[in-house]
Amino acid sequence: MEAERVLVTGGGGFLGSHLIDRLLDAGHEVLCVDNFFTGSRANVRHVLNHPRFELMRHDVTFPLYVEVDRIYNLACPASPIHYQRDPVQTIKTSVLGAINMLGLAKRLHIPILQASTSEVYGDPEVHPQTEEYWGKVNPIGIRSCYDEGKRAAETLFFDYHRQNGLDVKVIRIFNTYGPRMDMNDGRVVSNFIVQALRGEPITIYGDGNQTRSFCYVDDLIDGMIRLMGTEPGFTGPVNVGNPVEFTMKELAEAVIRLTGSASTIEYRPLPQDDPRQRKPDISLAGEKLGWEPHVPLEDGLKPTIDYFRSLVEA
Ligand code: NAD
Ligand code: UDP
Ligand code: UDP
Repeated sequence: MEAERVLVTGGGGFLGSHLIDRLLDAGHEVLCVDNFFTGSRANVRHVLNHPRFELMRHDVTFPLYVEVDRIYNLACPASPIHYQRDPVQTIKTSVLGAINMLGLAKRLHIPILQASTSEVYGDPEVHPQTEEYWGKVNPIGIRSCYDEGKRAAETLFFDYHRQNGLDVKVIRIFNTYGPRMDMNDGRVVSNFIVQALRGEPITIYGDGNQTRSFCYVDDLIDGMIRLMGTEPGFTGPVNVGNPVEFTMKELAEAVIRLTGSASTIEYRPLPQDDPRQRKPDISLAGEKLGWEPHVPLEDGLKPTIDYFRSLVEA
């Protein structure tokens, strides 16, 4: 592919920083826009002096006038602890951020990808979830700022596509893990690893028989770049995630084994509305992107553990 100037919003975050690494490796110029609400300069510190990298502190709820060839719109806090800290800012980021980035894409006539989420399916009544499923989302609950914000952003993407002929791509991302995940976001993978490394008890909520599927970040970014590379007119939405399910008990055991930790397991009450199962149907990604995940859980946990070890020991 010809070298381009690529805008990554939310580039200081977990997924954005990995996307930036891949884009720079492919020879592109990258403009990273982030207000560091949840992300950090540490995630992009290794590229700050890269000749094709530029960092701009900016909040996407405000208009942005730059000249680029392509946009990946990832800006948005992603874990409940963070997006519930300032719910109004969260939904503004999704909705006004989408409007501004779509306005930018419209002025420049360039492709734009939206990082959407499995959360648009809410508390799903069908398993696994296909892209046709419309979801079951509470419009007024404490998760709504995120779920409904992401749904409204999808609506905006499809309206700009229909009304202005914009080349839009929507990826629905399922649980993803890897180095540069936030250590304090309360998610199961980061919690278990940090607890194991500190020798603290591993906290399993409920009986630990609920299942989740976890996608390693490299696989996810591969799917995202493939989606961006599809022909104009292919919009998605496309589910990207790993369909292999593990129980939380199995995850805890894998983390204990791989860290060599002496941690014990402690059972805690299951949070309200905790889904028993969440799993993507990735047939469409297979068919349209030729994509499937390749990294097994243990192979992905190892570099993730190394990353957290460097933080815990620092
Ligand atoms: P993250 O919190 O690490 O990254 C989000 C980045 O966006 C942060 O650097 C943050 O500072 C920035 N940001 C937030 N509000 C902003 C604003 N108003 N203006 C500019 N920048 C802003 O989260 P992540 O895990 O890297 O997620 C990236 C995207 O992928 C998000 O849109 C998220 O909803 C989506 N996603 C992630 C997952 C996952 O498992 N990690 C799952 C589904 C969807
Ligand atoms: N916008 C932007 N950068 C641009 C072009 C537009 O941030 O390069 C913003 C602009 O502030 C506007 C929004 O994107 O509010 C939507 O733009 P659009 O052209 O769709 O709508 P309009 O300007 O007609 O409101
Ligand atoms: N969980 C757990 N211990 C923890 C954190 C989470 O057992 O320290 C459980 C949680 O109850 C849920 C699963 O792990 O059943 C995944 O939780 P997470 O918040 O990571 O993701 P989500 O529920 O959004 O898939």
